[in-house]
Amino acid sequence: MSVQSPDRPAIGSADAPPAVPIYRALLPSADALLPYLRIIDANRHYANRGELVRRLETRLREQIAAPGCAVLTAASGTAALQAAILAQTGRADPARPFALIAGYTFVATAMAAEACGYTPVFVDIDPATWAIDPAALRHHDRLARTGIVLAVAPYGRPHDQQAWADFATSTGVPVVIDAAASFEALLRNPATLTGTVPVVLSFHATKAFATGEGGAVIWSDIEGLKRCARAMNFGFLYSRESRAAGFNGKMSEYHAAIGLAALDGWDATAAASARLAARYRAIAVRAGLGDRLILASEIASNYALFRADSRSDALASCACLEAAAIEHRFWYGPGLHREPYFAAHRPAALPATEACAAALLGIPVFPDIDEPAIERIIAALARTAP
Ligand SMILES: *Cc1c(COP(=O)(O)O)cnc(C)c1O
Repeated sequence: MSVQSPDRPAIGSADAPPAVPIYRALLPSADALLPYLRIIDANRHYANRGELVRRLETRLREQIAAPGCAVLTAASGTAALQAAILAQTGRADPARPFALIAGYTFVATAMAAEACGYTPVFVDIDPATWAIDPAALRHHDRLARTGIVLAVAPYGRPHDQQAWADFATSTGVPVVIDAAASFEALLRNPATLTGTVPVVLSFHATKAFATGEGGAVIWSDIEGLKRCARAMNFGFLYSRESRAAGFNGKMSEYHAAIGLAALDGWDATAAASARLAARYRAIAVRAGLGDRLILASEIASNYALFRADSRSDALASCACLEAAAIEHRFWYGPGLHREPYFAAHRPAALPATEACAAALLGIPVFPDIDEPAIERIIAALARTAP
């Protein structure tokens, strides 16, 4: 039973509208999976690069990789990040203990570096791209003692593969690009986004293209991808001798089945998410908020962002959303350097990261969000926006 109050109906009461979740994943149905599950039954090959993992990697290579690049799947985006770091430069050593990491990202980016022994050093972003500016990073005072740079493509926005390749060549410091949410950006532009700098994707259930849990590394360096595979299989490659640092980061056949079914249905998924973004935008424009909403295809379709003018405006919007039972989220928290775990290292202040983190508010969008819910979200935001 819900408690009623005279001025505001309790959430979940009969007369209150239902709460709108920030995200509600929709992965392939059991019927869509069944043909692939039957292949697994017949093969009795459940893990360690079976037929379905190899088929998924081939189809992904054809669709999201530049000619000459290959795709290696992983158990998660974080596993793919760790594998790419180990393949690029191995575990941290005393001469190069640092990983330079964008302050504005999901915690997984820094967790992956730590798992490989690196001490995260957070770097501020360019307010226009929300990402590290590779030109500015050339002058970073820790560069000489840096083992790896982790650049990030925030919310699946396109990254600058060429600029990072130039950075790596001129500084000698290897780079991995955490493009966890960039499946759609890569589909649109594989030739410029993939190449000599490894690009890591996540296929977590909340990403636009999902396998439940999963991830991938895309790279033109085929020997490098073999080192990724070795890292994700206990240091084994073509033998039972462990020859490098590793862990279990492999994708299972069951997760590959979800990925193959998701690719089968991708055209319909993409058409629906384009229609949804257009509808969302039209409703926002009608409310005078057209310039405040950031939607696909500017960012990945699993995100919708509301751009507030300041931290206090964002908090006022949060309060209005809260009152309307609309879930919302600062997807990258206050900036990684201000997460309690990392703040213990007393990192430097990162003003652009903090400004972005405070102003970009995640609002609900998901495959079957309905129009009344979008109307409610926009109405709640219109109550606070000047
Ligand atoms: C989703 C995400 C990850 C983590 O991927 P998992 O598959 O959950 O391990 C890492 N970095 C960014 C930027 C992400 O959005």
